[in-house]
Amino acid sequence: MVLQEHNYWLTTAEFPPSDSSRLLLNPVDVAVIGAGFTGLSAARTLAKRGAKVAVLESETIGWGASSRNGGMVLTGMKLGVRKLISMYGRELTQRMYAASLATIDCVEKIVREEVIECDFFRCGHLEVACKQKHFDDYERQAETIEVNFNHKLRVVPRSELSTEIGSSVYYGGMVDEISAGCNPARYVAGLAHSAMNAGAEIFEHARVQAIERESHQGEVRWKITTSRGPVWAHEVFVGTSGYTGPATPALQKRIIPIGSFIITTEVLPVPLAKELSPRNRMIYDSKNYLYYYRLTPDRRMLFGGRAAFFPENDQTVRRSAEILRRGMISVYPQLADARIEYVWGGTLDFAFDIMPHAGQMDGMYYAVGYAGHGVAMATYQGQKIAELMAGDKPENPFVGIPFPGAPFGLYSGKPWFLPLAGAWYKMLDWVS
Ligand SMILES: Cc1cc2nc3c(=O)[nH]c(=O)nc-3n(C[C@H](O)[C@H](O)[C@H](O)COP(=O)(O)OP(=O)(O)OC[C@H]3O[C@@H](n4cnc5c(N)ncnc54)[C@H](O)[C@@H]3O)c2cc1C
Repeated sequence: MVLQEHNYWLTTAEFPPSDSSRLLLNPVDVAVIGAGFTGLSAARTLAKRGAKVAVLESETIGWGASSRNGGMVLTGMKLGVRKLISMYGRELTQRMYAASLATIDCVEKIVREEVIECDFFRCGHLEVACKQKHFDDYERQAETIEVNFNHKLRVVPRSELSTEIGSSVYYGGMVDEISAGCNPARYVAGLAHSAMNAGAEIFEHARVQAIERESHQGEVRWKITTSRGPVWAHEVFVGTSGYTGPATPALQKRIIPIGSFIITTEVLPVPLAKELSPRNRMIYDSKNYLYYYRLTPDRRMLFGGRAAFFPENDQTVRRSAEILRRGMISVYPQLADARIEYVWGGTLDFAFDIMPHAGQMDGMYYAVGYAGHGVAMATYQGQKIAELMAGDKPENPFVGIPFPGAPFGLYSGKPWFLPLAGAWYKMLDWVS
């Protein structure tokens, strides 16, 4: 098979049928923008609470990062715990960490309740150290996490690392048994089915172009102008992540879209797959410009990284295939002759402080900023913000934390600084 510039996961999933001729639902209680994990999880929760919900998606269900990711359902956040404690103090960080553990349960509960066949399994994740000093820090991190958050990670010295990974390039590892893996395209398709079963309506190819307050039938509501016509709503929930655009300018200015790319090999023989990842973990390394990888349920090596910082386009995807193949072979020389069958890319959403953010902005609800930890956190935030909208007071430590924009306001949504940021992180990996 020749290399396909196509998302492998999509070849394994079935999405609800699309009907672009259906009239938009009007008026609704809530218009949800974006049909990824965030939007669909919110729509499911709101519809189950009896709200009339329209999900507006500019492309198709799961078209964004939600069908394109590594399927790693990860505990923790992008920032390390000591950094978090220095930013937010011990008590708030404890709540954030507890929430990050709850996100995995949240996904598992939905998968079980809705019988979503997405190969969800609690395989744990393995972080591997690219330098001795990164490994030395694992002991300290594990201790901080155990003392402060009552959660146990297992540090694996280099001498025992072969029980975890068939690679000799790392200085040791750290395992969290709570994390899980899934097939993200099947999961997002299942979430869409469950939201629809609960009564939400999903409208594909309905790009939101403008959102304003206007009087309608004697009431002031949100008027959401879409490429398929207007929708009137009492409330708006924005779940557009790395694809956030000019319809929500305040949010767009706070989100940096960053490209991430993935290759998958051909299906590997059982003994080789077992050698590469004896415990079938979700694996990522300790660099800023990191590699993340795992076996797929049908035993391909899926290998991802930020091969280019710019979001996906034909050029960045094509170039990534060779860059990632070289990266993969540097980790696993055993794969030198393995055929690469798929390459694709997607866009991640980073806030300037690399934290998840959720709450209300300009009167609209939102949840964004998952920084590569979105499979679990997006599902969780969609649900928690929907509960808030429904009048509950759910525990959500990410609501109300400061949500910074660019320093000196030097950003309007066009990330001109990405090449500089990419070079900066490569430099940091070299020196730290
Ligand atoms: C290559 C890659 C690998 C990743 N790997 C992992 C991983 O292994 N583990 C992990 O936890 N996270 C991972 N992530 C991150 C994770 O996929 C995301 O954080 C998560 O999918 C975000 O979900 P979402 O619903 O918020 O956004 P998305 O899934 O991106 O959905 C946003 C949707 O909004 C729609 N939209 C945007 N603007 C409009 C508009 N104006 N009108 C209507 N619709 C609009 C888009 O079309 C899109 O479908 C990865 C991401 C990428 C790209």
